[in-house]
Amino acid sequence: MSIRIACLMFSHETVTFLANDTTKADFIYPGSPASGAALLSTDPAGYMGGFVKVAREHQGVELIGIESPLFPITGTGSGWVTTDAFEHFTGRMVEQLRMQGPFDGVYLCVHGAMAVRGVPHPEAELARRVRDAVGPQACLAGTFDPHGNEDDKFLSHADFAFCVKYFPHYDSRLQGERAARMMIRAIRGDYAPSAVTVNVPILTPTVMQWTGASPWMDLVQRALVWEAREPDLYVNVFFGFPWADVPDAGMTIQATANANPALARKAADDMAAYAWRRRAELASAAQVQSMAEGVRHAAEAMAAGRTPIVLADHSDRSGAATFLLQEVLDQGLSDTAIATIADSGTIAAYRNARPGTPFEGSIGGRLDPSAGAAVMLRGTIAAGDWSDNNPARHWMSIRFGDNNLVVLTPYLTQIMEPEALARFGIDTAAYKAFAIKSRVHFRRGFDDSGFAPTILLVEPDAPFLGTIRLEALPYANLNLKDYYPYSQG
Ligand SMILES: [Zn+2]
Repeated sequence: MSIRIACLMFSHETVTFLANDTTKADFIYPGSPASGAALLSTDPAGYMGGFVKVAREHQGVELIGIESPLFPITGTGSGWVTTDAFEHFTGRMVEQLRMQGPFDGVYLCVHGAMAVRGVPHPEAELARRVRDAVGPQACLAGTFDPHGNEDDKFLSHADFAFCVKYFPHYDSRLQGERAARMMIRAIRGDYAPSAVTVNVPILTPTVMQWTGASPWMDLVQRALVWEAREPDLYVNVFFGFPWADVPDAGMTIQATANANPALARKAADDMAAYAWRRRAELASAAQVQSMAEGVRHAAEAMAAGRTPIVLADHSDRSGAATFLLQEVLDQGLSDTAIATIADSGTIAAYRNARPGTPFEGSIGGRLDPSAGAAVMLRGTIAAGDWSDNNPARHWMSIRFGDNNLVVLTPYLTQIMEPEALARFGIDTAAYKAFAIKSRVHFRRGFDDSGFAPTILLVEPDAPFLGTIRLEALPYANLNLKDYYPYSQG
């Protein structure tokens, strides 16, 4: 029996508090949208790669890549996805599904924290439209990021949802592989999914959610134990994404069993009860300092030789925030590489500047209040690259102070590994501190690897966006009092 599976992707992690909307144009750049073989070969080490690999290990499976936008050029540094963008890309997908069908299955490579103006549950709405296009017999499977804000609506239209367990997201490929295997089993009549979803009213800043330590590690471990001891049971733990102001924000548990609703119910309820019992620890798992404290502690660690040091500004969501640079200047911290500050204007103004060219100007900030003010800097151009046809890949760096360096990029750039600094010509051995814009993903290369003995998480006093003080954010689509730790009593 031959099996035809359509693969599509529509993925964004939307920070709705940012002023700049994510538009149709942000999804269109060299390589995106992608279709056919190009779509199937995107992200070989991630969700799509895992799905394609396992699907192709099965006899008689044909994969069709449906035209899909890749992650927007703005990365995670942009706000509400416009209705126009959502309608345009889902419209194209549905049209092609109808033209190229029939299909036995559809793989939806989504994120879960996309927020679209006027579309309250975008991933569920995408699944609804796909279902409408391919009919009730087809098997629909989605893969999700644990930052997804999900409830039971996606699974009311789709058969499977598989969510990454770890933050950093080490197992995206494994979840893609799993989605392919389970979809093919279901199509062949070997698995009949019965799913249970339980929303857990806990809302936590993402900086808390590192799964490399207790209690988040324990939550992941409990899900893994359920999956290990019960054949054919799959457990999702969505941590939730509080920077998307959407009605279904927050933690969600899903369990899926093979024609066994009672087992799915038992596992989901157990996981939800466990998370609730440990809510106080989950909501306070990370120590976050002010910029001033963090830079002071970095100087102390430097003096004591506890280097390299990571200063992680977890709060910057636009990429342009200058608070940490300003504090480095104010306290005269030395030997620090700052990567990066988003400032496309300065990069364009210094196009093809040679190393050693004097630099005097104000950088960063301005984009929105959470980016802070532009910072006046005097130094020299260290390096830069303006050769790519795509200006999104241009960058430059400025040397200043006592062996300090700041890298400018056009958009928010999250440095997750020391190796990523090599792209900007940075020799990590030449610096003692690395000031980066990351919450948890940097632990992949700076902490889990043993690279940095000193890790300092910082955020500005005000104004802020990616703050641990969620009560300071202007939520309009959810009531913070409905969630721990903001609920009364
Ligand atoms: Zn994530």
